[in-house]
Amino acid sequence: FESKLPNVGTTIFTIMSQLAVDHKAINLGQGFPDFSPDETLLDLVTQAMKEGHNQYPPMAGVVALRQQIALKVQALYGHQYDPETEITVTSGASEALMASILAFVRAGDEVIVIEPFYDLYIPVIELAGGKPVIVPMTAPTPQAPAYRVDWQRVRDAITSKTRMLILNFPHNPTCINLTPADLDSLESIVQETGILLLSDEVYEHLVYDDQPHQSVARRPLLAAHSIVVSSFGKTYSATGWKIGYCCAPKVISAEIRKVHQFNVFTVTSPMQVALAHYMKNEDAYLSLPAFYQQKRDRLLKGLANTRFVPMHSEGTFFLMADYSNISDLPEAEFARWITVEHGVGVIPVSAFYRQPDAPESNHGLIRFCFAKRDETLDTAIEKLAGI
Ligand code: PMP
Ligand code: GLN
Repeated sequence: FESKLPNVGTTIFTIMSQLAVDHKAINLGQGFPDFSPDETLLDLVTQAMKEGHNQYPPMAGVVALRQQIALKVQALYGHQYDPETEITVTSGASEALMASILAFVRAGDEVIVIEPFYDLYIPVIELAGGKPVIVPMTAPTPQAPAYRVDWQRVRDAITSKTRMLILNFPHNPTCINLTPADLDSLESIVQETGILLLSDEVYEHLVYDDQPHQSVARRPLLAAHSIVVSSFGKTYSATGWKIGYCCAPKVISAEIRKVHQFNVFTVTSPMQVALAHYMKNEDAYLSLPAFYQQKRDRLLKGLANTRFVPMHSEGTFFLMADYSNISDLPEAEFARWITVEHGVGVIPVSAFYRQPDAPESNHGLIRFCFAKRDETLDTAIEKLAGI
């Protein structure tokens, strides 16, 4: 048979985590915390199971959870989504993204993806028969030392065949956030073209230096054209639960639900019931920026005593670092080398490019995850200092 995804192998996250396990390396690669979710949340799951929440919940998600999501989004971003028709609980953000792409992208449709990009988008666009159109970010320079999106380039990539623009801020892996000026640019693009936005905001609560997250839900025009995706895995340190959600206007949500109901139908009930209770405590997400900023700064400070040159992280639980003082190996080889030889697992940033092995996708950068206990970070820093 002919593979539908001939260019797709095993994801870099699986490969690097396995390599870290095989070599007993500290895993700062794949993005997941090495600590448990809040005990209160764990107790709420047990309680939900004992109270009998063990059968199929409603297809679009437990009603109380959708209500809590609506309240949170309204409180933070000022947009009111109807929990009944506009919020869908999904099997992680991954399923929300996949259902959204499958529901809207037809054979031959173009979908704009900003490079570097999270690895899920392109294979799913291709499964739907769509054509990814890559718009590169503007790389840092000494004058402007951060990645940024050139919205004019995005605008120029839109044709009559464009079906969707995929956004992901806070951004994995460059760790940049959107600014209000970015939302202004997006508004003009949407006004002019009416394009559908798929906004992957899984790191919405992981933003630093007192910058608020700039959700597309903050602007009524953008919200009317957007599917906003988030993940409880990132927010509540429970990546293994695989629960996420998407918010979109009723007519858009209805199409997403057509896919969701035949993909997974619904997602695990006790976790949803527990999350609905737990979300009432706003502190659990409002405290995240301070909690993770301390970890980011611990890693930044530690890296200052190594030959790695860290880049700033405005959001997510990652940061990128330049290793060109140490080696000129391509990123995938360097990542493998420090995992195997120095006991610290990382992700090559080239994995977030269309052609990971091409020289233009290799900038001498690796990605570290700092969602780790302080002891884990300190031990990793000690090992990195020896390189
Ligand atoms: N989008 C981005 C940008 C991610 O980094 C991830 C991975 N954590 C996901 C989506 C998938 O999230 P989930 O585990 O909730 O499916
Ligand atoms: N999003 C996580 C990361 O970027 C990985 C999730 C996965 O392994 N699919 O590390």
